[in-house]
Amino acid sequence: MIVLLVHYGRRRSPAAAEGSTVTAKLLTFCLRSLYREYGAAFLRRVVLVHPVATLRGIARYGRGGIGEPERWEGGEGSLVGVGFCLKPMAPGCPSGRANHRCLFFETGAEADPASCRDCSIRIIGQQALRCGSALYIMTSARDILEDVLLPALEQRRFQRALLTMCRYSFEPIGLALAICGIEARLVPFAHGDCRDYSTWRRADTGDKPEQTSMEATSFQRLISSFSGLEPGKGAPRFRKTGNVYQPC
Ligand code: SF4
Repeated sequence: MIVLLVHYGRRRSPAAAEGSTVTAKLLTFCLRSLYREYGAAFLRRVVLVHPVATLRGIARYGRGGIGEPERWEGGEGSLVGVGFCLKPMAPGCPSGRANHRCLFFETGAEADPASCRDCSIRIIGQQALRCGSALYIMTSARDILEDVLLPALEQRRFQRALLTMCRYSFEPIGLALAICGIEARLVPFAHGDCRDYSTWRRADTGDKPEQTSMEATSFQRLISSFSGLEPGKGAPRFRKTGNVYQPC
């Protein structure tokens, strides 16, 4: 796999220097993660059990987009993911912080108007709901493996994903998504995001004292990109299935 990653970095990047950087970042991340719970679980449950999908994913890696899409088509098999670190901190989210919950979508009302009114998760989630995409509040890499990657790989539950996350995670999550058959669009945070392995690792265990956010213009473009629900489908709402909010 490592040989293939090196090959990938040289082959797909527009410039050799950029390719080397991507490869180096991926290798560093993969090697460090192998010693962690997520890396070992990914190796054991994805790479070793699904070697063909792994090879296909490596070949496909790099085809997804980065930045807000011009148009996000929701519907079956689509997922919108938001980092838990987008939850407001002052006042804090009434659902708690490093978890998959949003009381707004569970109760259908602003659990705490002062927190929920301007919350990015509420605004993005309402757009996801409008266009028929599932909503997932991302916490740890291990949970993403259980809740998104394995259901996509083994049940084809998700085929497309629009994820807001720190740019530092793009290469490793992009590879994991490609292996699991998800065509992904990754939108970066601009503020409060993790920029090295140690802060990423802390956030992965729920220790994330900074609130992340996107650039205002980027956020507006993202919100405008969601296409509408088909006429006649009625007012949708979310039902929680495991850790994922599924439109119904
Ligand atoms: S809308 Fe935001 S602040 Fe309100 S419960 Fe959901 S995640 Fe928390």
